[in-house]
Formats: sequence, C-alpha cells, structure tokens
Amino acid sequence: MQKEKILSLLSEKCMQSFGCDLDEATKQQTYRAVCLVVRDLLVQTRNDFCSRYEKQQAKQVYYMSMEFLVGTSLHNNLYNLGLEDSFRAALADLNVDLDDLYEIEPDAGLGNGGLGRLASCYMDAMSSLHIPATGFSLRYEFGIFKQKIIDGWQMEFPDNWLDMGDVWLIPRKEDAVEVKFGGQVHEWMQDGKLKIEQYDYTPVLAVPYDMFISGYDSGAVNKLVLWSAKSPSNMDMNAFSRGDYVKAIEQNAMAEAISKVLYPADDHVEGKILRLKQQYLFVSASLQSIVKNHLKHFDSLDSLPQKAAIHINDTHPALCVPELLRILLDDYGYDWDRAWDICQNTLAYTNHTVMSEALERWPEYLFREQLPRIYQLVAEINRRLVNQLNTVYPGDLAKIEYMAVIANNEVRMANLCLACCHKVNGVSKLHSDILKDSIFHDYYHIAPDKFTNVTNGIAYRRWLCQSNPKLTEKLREWIGDGFLHDANALEKLMKYYDKANVLQDLQKIKRYNKEVLCNYIARSNGINVDPNSIFDVQIKRLHEYKRQLLNVLHIMHLYCVIKENPNLDIPPRTFIFAAKASAGYFMAKQVIRLIDAVSKLVNSDPAVREKVKVVFLEDYKVSLAEIIIPAADISEQISIAGKEASGTGNMKLMINGAVTLGTLDGANVEIHEQVGDDNIFLFGLTAPEVEELWKKGYNPVEYYNGNLELRRVIDMLTSGVLGSRFDEIAKSLLTNSYGAADAYMTLADFDSYVRKQEEVGRTYLDKRKFFNMSLVNIAKAGLFSADRAVTEYADDIWQVKGIK
Ligand SMILES: *Cc1c(COP(=O)(O)O)cnc(C)c1O
Repeated sequence: MQKEKILSLLSEKCMQSFGCDLDEATKQQTYRAVCLVVRDLLVQTRNDFCSRYEKQQAKQVYYMSMEFLVGTSLHNNLYNLGLEDSFRAALADLNVDLDDLYEIEPDAGLGNGGLGRLASCYMDAMSSLHIPATGFSLRYEFGIFKQKIIDGWQMEFPDNWLDMGDVWLIPRKEDAVEVKFGGQVHEWMQDGKLKIEQYDYTPVLAVPYDMFISGYDSGAVNKLVLWSAKSPSNMDMNAFSRGDYVKAIEQNAMAEAISKVLYPADDHVEGKILRLKQQYLFVSASLQSIVKNHLKHFDSLDSLPQKAAIHINDTHPALCVPELLRILLDDYGYDWDRAWDICQNTLAYTNHTVMSEALERWPEYLFREQLPRIYQLVAEINRRLVNQLNTVYPGDLAKIEYMAVIANNEVRMANLCLACCHKVNGVSKLHSDILKDSIFHDYYHIAPDKFTNVTNGIAYRRWLCQSNPKLTEKLREWIGDGFLHDANALEKLMKYYDKANVLQDLQKIKRYNKEVLCNYIARSNGINVDPNSIFDVQIKRLHEYKRQLLNVLHIMHLYCVIKENPNLDIPPRTFIFAAKASAGYFMAKQVIRLIDAVSKLVNSDPAVREKVKVVFLEDYKVSLAEIIIPAADISEQISIAGKEASGTGNMKLMINGAVTLGTLDGANVEIHEQVGDDNIFLFGLTAPEVEELWKKGYNPVEYYNGNLELRRVIDMLTSGVLGSRFDEIAKSLLTNSYGAADAYMTLADFDSYVRKQEEVGRTYLDKRKFFNMSLVNIAKAGLFSADRAVTEYADDIWQVKGIK
C-alpha cells in the first residue's frame, strides 16, 4: 500500500471520528485513526475469508476460554498485514513515530498468565493457518489488575483498559442474547413428550463485541467474541412502576457486575457466585450463538459434530456440557441419547493443571439455586455415569465416588468434562502422562483413546519476529525467510554452530537488547544495571510451586559468599524478576516482599552490587514480557517437578536465545530433548523422585540441619538483617503451620540449584561456549511454535482443515 493511500485513509478517518484534520490531531487521535484504518482492512479481509469457508461449508473451531491475554494488537496487525513499513513512512510525513503510537496502546489483559496467553497464541496461529475459528470469552471492563510495589508490598489498581483499548472492539447490539439465572423449573408432559420451562428467573442480556485476529501473511482473519453483561431494558419496569427506583437500579448493577472484572487468581479456584455467573453467561451466550450460526447454514443440529469443534480451555467453560445438552433437549426436542451423542462428538477439553486447589468444584446447593435446569441435567449425567461405573467397577465405591460428577455435595467440573468430551488432552508429555497415570487414571482405564497430548506452543512471530527485530533480521540473512512461515526452518541455524562471526553477532544482538532493557530498568526502577552482566530472568505469575523463593534463597546465598570473600571472582549477574501475585495469596505476597528486601540489601551494598544486582519489575504483562525476553541470558524454569503443566515462558525465552536453567518439569522435558544435555542447565529432583520422597516422608529440617549454606540463608529470614523479618516464610519452609512443611521441596532442591548456578557462572566466562548454547536453543525452538500445536489439535482432536 502506498503511503499516499494510507495518508488519505487516515485523514478521512480523522475527520469522520474527531472532526479534525490529520495534522491537527493529537497523538491519541492519530493512534485511534491508525487503529480504525487497520480495523477496516481486517474487516475486508475477514469478509473475503468468511465467504470462502462458507462456500466450502467448512468445519469451524469454537475456542471457549474465560481468558485471552491478548496484549497489544496494533504492532501485531501491521506486522501480519505486511504494512508496518508503509505506515511508518506515512506517519513520518506527519512527524509521528510509529513506535510512540505503539506505546499508547494498553494491553488487553483479559487473562492471568499462561492459560490466557496460550488461548491468544492459538487464535493467532489458527488465523495464520487459515483455520476458521471463533474465540469466545467475556469483555471484562477491568482486566488483570495493575501492580505497584509500595514499601515491598504489592498493591493492586484497576486496569481501565477500555479507555483506549476499545478501538479494536465492534459491538453487535442486535445480536444480544438472553441468559437465564435462578428461578424454578416447570416440567409437564405434552403429546407424550417432556416439556421444560424455567420461570421466575432473572434474565441478563449478553451483548457481543468482536475483536478481529489477523494471521501472518494469510488472508485469514478470525474473531474473538467478547460478551458484555447488560440488564434487559424492560426488566426494571416492574420495580419502577412500584416506585422502587433504587431496587431497579440495583438490579441493573447486579446484572452488569457479571462482566465487570477478571478474577485475578491463577491456578486457584475462587468459589464465588459471581464467578459461576460469569461462566454460565459466557457459555450460554456462546452456545446459543454457535447453534444459531449452524442453523443459518445447515438444516438441523444433527450435523453439528461435523461442522463445529467446540473446545473447552480448562474447566472454566465446563458448563458447555450441560448447556449444549439443554439446548438440544429443551429447545430442539432431541431425546437424551441422541443429544448426548452430539455433545460428546462436538466437545473436547484441555486440562491445564494437576494442582488440587485449582480443580473447580461448586457447592451443590449454590449450583442448583443459580442454574436450576442445568443442575437437573448434571444430576442426570451423574446418575447415568454412576450406573455405568457400577458395571465397570462393581462395588468399588471409593473409585466410583472419585469419578462422580456430583459427590460430597459438590459439582466437579473436571469430571463433567471427562464424562462427556470425546478428547481430553494435557499440555506437555510429562503432564499428559501424569493425567493418565494418576489424577485421571480411572477414566483413562475405561476410555484410553480419549486421552492425548498436545504440547503447548507460542505465537513465535510475536515473541521473536516482532519483539526481537534485530535477531530476526540476522536470522533472515543467515537462513533465509523460510522460518517466517515455518518455524522448523530455524534448525538451519545449526550449520553455523561453531561459526565465530555468527556467535559474535548473536552476542552483539543480545548486548543491544540488554541495553534496551537497561534503559527501561533505569526509567522504571532508578537502578543502573550493567549490560555486561548475566541477565538471569524469572518472569511468570508468583506461585509457591514456581519457586521464586528458591531463586531468592540462592541470591541470599551469593550475598553471604561475597560478604565472606569480597575478592571472589565470579561473572557479574543481574537477577530480574517480574510477577503478579493473586490479590488474596498471602505467601506469594510475602515472597514479593522478600525479593524487594533482598534487592535493597544487595543493590545498596558497595561490596556486593558490582557483582550482583536484583531488580523486580512492576506490572508483569505481555508488553513488558516483550521487552524483557529478548534481553535474557538465563531462563529460570525452576518449578518443583510434576507441578508445571507445560510453561510457555520457557519457550519464548528459548527462541530468543536464553538458556534454560530448570527442573525436568512441564515442557522443559521436551526442551531438553530438543537441545540435548549440553545446552541446558538441569538440576533438582525429577517427578518420580519427588513422589518417592513424599512417600518416604519428607522432612525439610534434615536439609536445614545438614547444610550450613542453607541454614545460613534460612536464618537470615528471621534475623532482621533484611530490614524486616520473614517469619512466615521461614515457618512455611520448616514447620507445618502453613500446610505441609516446605510443600514445594525448596530445601530438597537447594543444594543442587546452587551447584548448577555455579556451573552457569563458569560457563558464561567462556562466551563462545555460551553463545554456542544460545544458538542451539534458537535453532531447536521450532517445535514450540503454536502452528505445530494448533495443527495437532486440528488433526487429532478437531478434525478441521485450513481453507485453501
Ligand atoms: C507467557 C506468559 C506467561 C506464562 O509464563 P510461564 O513462565 O509459562 O508461567 C504469563 N504471563 C505473561 C504475560 C506471559 O506472556
């Protein structure tokens, strides 16, 4: 596209939207005009794409997820459309720097962490692969909170992203649907058929907003449909006419509260009524619209499984099972067996965690009260399931209860998915094996073919091509453009494995990206860090199982070692953390406080700060990750083995040339397979060893007593040398006053971690060796492309194909 054409589109948009000339527009107005012009281009491409797949009557994917961590869109869309350079040139004529406009855009933070980001990476990949797909979620008015650290404490602030982020959303008020909460169910027989009606319910309107998702150089544009809750306009009239103005307004607010805010708990359930209402609103509205769309193109719902693959991303949308069943039975008159068959063949489920505190369960009374018809259906699903299990496991009441959908006065969402969906997958080899061998073993036993694995992947065009342009440019020079479409082509880099000039260039690029990050750190934290130091990075949600604490204990150990021997010759290090803690997660917030205290101690000590610096960057989010990741030397992936389902941060860092320091957990196992022993720093207990140690009886005090280095740092927690005391952390490690003592085996892995960190330091001294490792990591990262992952879903689970 010519820059004259772009300028004329921008002028027109500016006049239309703001009534001003382009050269008089503010930065904000220019930003909006640019986004709106890009949005128009996406709409055109989408219309072409839709008519192509509708003509072919192609099968579609419906990706259901409570979270999509979209991040920013302008850069991504311009890149995918191949328009970045021409827009940059056009804007330069107006004395506007495109990078300044990128900075205006707020992240669409409609997710907590890995799970939500995965959903967004998969939408990008499906568009790039021409797979017709619609993502469904909620249009949260407030996404993941903004984080500030004040005196060591995390403070949360509302994320009012719609203020500027709304440019990407197109409302479709005319397609609003009604969702029913509460009330009673009336059943009667008519013409020999059971009829159902819900009455006295509270109706809530779900209004869809479309966000378009472009694919790389693909001619396909998919959409994300975000539902916003609204009170139906006529709902208040009764209260109004009774003169109860306040009640009318209250009901309005209650309805609209449903899509107000994203729950900020990651890998942890929040058993709140509002959360259940969010889930049902989004599931019911989405399924109603899927069914309506199907019937627009096909004459009955018999063909739904052939034309629609509905994917349940974690158990948050598990209500898809009874809601689809409800629509088929109550709205379209199917009998149970036929309806169940359609549900089974249409629905598939991905499990994302084995942590018991994340397994969703609802109190039965609450579930029945809020969703009376859905409750009846779940009870019937459970009755039939238990009958079936009684024939498979006769008399084994414990097993049957473990597998039941309703037991102990609770409704269990994972079992609901397992009982119905035709496929269930984990997100890395190790994780999928754990599902089969332990938590879902009894289901695996009766339906082994249901279970499969799809190792996670990332949208590498965002995480490499867009966020690391310097490396991308060099890669194109070295191995050609093939990797832009096919990440496996990165492997061609292996031919330069030992080529001195390539290794030097890699080092220079890393050094440049580290300077960019240094500038960011100077601005945000007022700390000067040395770009020659090792950038040792741990960025992810703060969670005990992810063991940021192990990282900090090692830094405290280094502090002690340097104080003891100020002339110690070690390569300087910068430890970089970024992490949000769930607002109510006490121990996670203590760990943030500890990182803050250690950073103050270390950074202010002249004897230490030349060798070690510690930086905590506030408000971890996609756009911050895009700055940190290209600058990382070491990728900390140090969860206790068996707990991290996959990780995707590990993949983003790998493809940018960071070397993993990690346990054999999640997708680290596959990263290890890809790069081999020599190009990864592995340490710690393996998943079977962790199991073994639990069985034997784990006692962290033995490690404390048996290791002087460890004892020294644990004692620092309570001694006051850190400025304040961290008694609760020490107690959680050594006593059972906060659950099991050291439930994440930090002490058991401490020594192994410290020794491996020493090896990291020694290795880095040999720059050539280190950048050999870095090169291999980039070259072998192709496997972790979301294109590969989505292709596996398409072939093995959804049975869909891309459109020619
Ligand atoms: C990739 C990503 C995550 C997931 O990180 P893990 O290390 O896999 O837990 C979380 N948050 C953001 C913003 C991300 O981009």
